[in-house]
Amino acid sequence: MLRRKSKYWECSAKKISRTFKLAVNVEGTKPYQEWAEDVLASIENDRILVFSPKDEHALDEALDENGDELIGSQAKTAVSIREWLPVGCQFIHWGNQRDRQNQDLGRYSNNAPQVLCGIGCSPAMTEPVGPACLVGRITLYQDRLIENENAFKHVLAHELVHCFDSLMFLVPAMQDWRQFWSNVLHGGRNIESIGQFFHRIRLFLDDYGSASELARLKKFWPSHAEVWFGAFHQR
Ligand SMILES: [Zn+2]
Repeated sequence: MLRRKSKYWECSAKKISRTFKLAVNVEGTKPYQEWAEDVLASIENDRILVFSPKDEHALDEALDENGDELIGSQAKTAVSIREWLPVGCQFIHWGNQRDRQNQDLGRYSNNAPQVLCGIGCSPAMTEPVGPACLVGRITLYQDRLIENENAFKHVLAHELVHCFDSLMFLVPAMQDWRQFWSNVLHGGRNIESIGQFFHRIRLFLDDYGSASELARLKKFWPSHAEVWFGAFHQR
């Protein structure tokens, strides 16, 4: 049996624990800070279903009896949004107008493609760094269009739903990164499927002004979503 001795520079085990926290900082000309905190405090349905880190079939395509595609049908583990939100989002803040990529009023982004999937990293890197390095944020843009309280709340709630969707993967990656990497991501061979999954699930929410956008918001804020949605889309 041949055993390769690892070289001294290859591995140095150091551990650090990280507490994920969400900081909201949207002070401004209107009580945006208060409005943002209101949206967070008024999440009525705190439960979401996430994938299991052991599920090799998490990303398999599934169809219902009518042949319609079921998205996320393998997500069966219920977790609390309040508990996990800071893992998906650590900052809610104003963005720089000049870094704005389009006319959107808000944007949820995270570095999961890099730290969980290794996208954009050196091809020599055989395994991504993992969920300890996750950074997620909601960037909002100050704009005359969101001076209305309910319209502002709609923009933030919409971006939060993008974050909740991402938790379907971020939670199991945090729960057991080794299992997640080998089972859900198939050791890196399933990365394209994760991209397709997010593309498909985004379509329901980013069909702006549609019944499906409203339904996605209503799931979490059943008694507010309609008012916020109406204020935003009829402004
Ligand atoms: Zn969106």
